[in-house]
Amino acid sequence: MNEGRKTKAAVVGAAGKMGGRIIHVLKETPSIELCLAVERSDHPWIGMDVGEIIGLGKIDIPLEGSLRKGADVLIDFTAPRVSLESLKFARASGMAAVIGTTGMNPEQINQIRGLSAEVRCVFSPNMSVGMNLMFRVVQDVARILGPEYDIEILEAHHRLKKDSPSGTAVRLGEVVAGATGRDFGQVGVYGRKGLVGERTRDEIGMQVIRAGDIVGEHTVLFGGIGERLEIIHRAHSRDNFARGAVRAALWVVDQPNGLYDMQDVLGLREGV
Ligand code: NAD
Repeated sequence: MNEGRKTKAAVVGAAGKMGGRIIHVLKETPSIELCLAVERSDHPWIGMDVGEIIGLGKIDIPLEGSLRKGADVLIDFTAPRVSLESLKFARASGMAAVIGTTGMNPEQINQIRGLSAEVRCVFSPNMSVGMNLMFRVVQDVARILGPEYDIEILEAHHRLKKDSPSGTAVRLGEVVAGATGRDFGQVGVYGRKGLVGERTRDEIGMQVIRAGDIVGEHTVLFGGIGERLEIIHRAHSRDNFARGAVRAALWVVDQPNGLYDMQDVLGLREGV
């Protein structure tokens, strides 16, 4: 679509933790450039150079209080109501959209689905390239190893994380359960304590660690007799999500209207 010129990106939530990392990644990606940095209209830093806010030095792009036309794609990591407004703006102005905001309720997800009939949108609660590949890999491994191998999921996050287990760990459970003909809602076992008896063949254990500043670790362990196979993803920083979001932005500008996720962006859709 943008042959011969850089894709222009607007970042919504530009002064937030993810917004800042996304702008860093945009800066080092030759085929895309930041053209608009948006924050809530009462943000105290409106008008300041966004590069100076996020530690890049002056980049001559001020922090603005609302979206406006001019970008090919917007990238929004904010809050559910804000992201819905961004998507409506994208639809009205012909921009594509990448939405990374989590915590949408079913009604809001339905609204995203409805709007996406008329806008190109990638929406994914986990934009990490490695984690999205892991969803695919564990599915294949679970299928190949079959019921002889016990499956346990372990996840570790920093001490400030409020929900447990992580949404990503639950998704891993659903994927391996689905691949082996089980329903994770029925076979998931969350921690073990006391005289719980022998492990049943069908159960899939979920163990959770909360400690220090761990960004995020997910392990799927396949335990056989005489060996075990562990597939581990470790997030070192938020940059893995920011890189996935920028990759999604470059991909979605060339797609027809519709709702996509990272499985589509990475070409992993089949069977997941
Ligand atoms: P954050 O609180 O640091 O940043 C959110 C930013 O949005 C803030 O700067 C806030 O001022 C801004 N904002 C609020 N209202 C706004 C408005 N009306 N217009 C423009 N900006 C507005 O949070 P964060 O850690 O950057 O996370 C943001 C979201 O992204 C959360 O939902 C988080 O769970 C999600 N997240 C998703 C992924 C993923 O891979 N999809 C990864 C990390 C975080």
